[in-house]
Amino acid sequence: MERAAQLSAACRHEGKVADYIPALACVAPDQFGMAVATIDGGVHCVGDGETRFSIQSISKVFLLTMAYGSYGEDLWKRVGQHPSTNPFNSLIELELERGVPRNPFLNPGALAVADALLSRHTHLESAMVSLMRELSGSADLNYDSEVFNSELRSSSRHHAAAYLMQSHGNFSNEVGEVVRAYCASCAIEASCVELARAGLFLANGGRDIASGRQLLSAREAQRVCALMLTTGTYEYSGMTAFAIGLPTKSGVGGGVLAVIPGRGCICAWSPRLDPRGNSVRAMKALELVSNTAGLSVFA
Ligand code: GLN
Repeated sequence: MERAAQLSAACRHEGKVADYIPALACVAPDQFGMAVATIDGGVHCVGDGETRFSIQSISKVFLLTMAYGSYGEDLWKRVGQHPSTNPFNSLIELELERGVPRNPFLNPGALAVADALLSRHTHLESAMVSLMRELSGSADLNYDSEVFNSELRSSSRHHAAAYLMQSHGNFSNEVGEVVRAYCASCAIEASCVELARAGLFLANGGRDIASGRQLLSAREAQRVCALMLTTGTYEYSGMTAFAIGLPTKSGVGGGVLAVIPGRGCICAWSPRLDPRGNSVRAMKALELVSNTAGLSVFA
């Protein structure tokens, strides 16, 4: 990891910090951290691996976990399992697919998942924060209200997606409430170490290592990983499979979470993004680590 951190520094000035959520634009752009957590309890981190950042779309993995655990295969009536060639906030396919988002990692897909969850949790924000605290082992983890309010103020597109789904009969709850819960989940702050720990259950057949709680069945965990591999980095997912070879989920806060099935979880973070919304340096660092250590699931 030290070597990947050094080598990836070559691209430390490439890309741009997300600014469409105004509060995210204030982050110091050249930070970089990485952490690995293994299923035998080991944790190792480099750089700013203990600095918290906005997890943004990485939260979609945990929203999906809650909803899949609750609804089982019925969840797929609400959202598909197909890759997309459009950006994560695009509404084009949503209309073409009659209000059923192509996958749970696109914004409309995560909103459909949040809507399903809100039908079973009155306080979805608190349920998400509790889950992240439990899985990361950090009792003080929370969402940042400035980032939350900032995204809420620029959430017309989330509302548009939700209303479009509603018009197709694929939305049950009050749109504003679902958008709030979604924005709060995205505004959760966690470090690479905390996220690597939180994702470990996916490497461990759906079972949380610390508590022994089975969050998902082994098959469900495997399927969440399959979706991460095919759709977790949006239009770049094919390249991610090619270059990194691990189920991966990115967020516009610059974090990228990667599962090494049966072994552990790595999280890399650096705020500058490529045009698709994936961190340039975090993706590079993961590629270097994966290739050097032979971690690809296809190896
Ligand atoms: N909260 C962000 C949004 O909805 C998440 C997007 C992302 O991280 N790719 O636009």
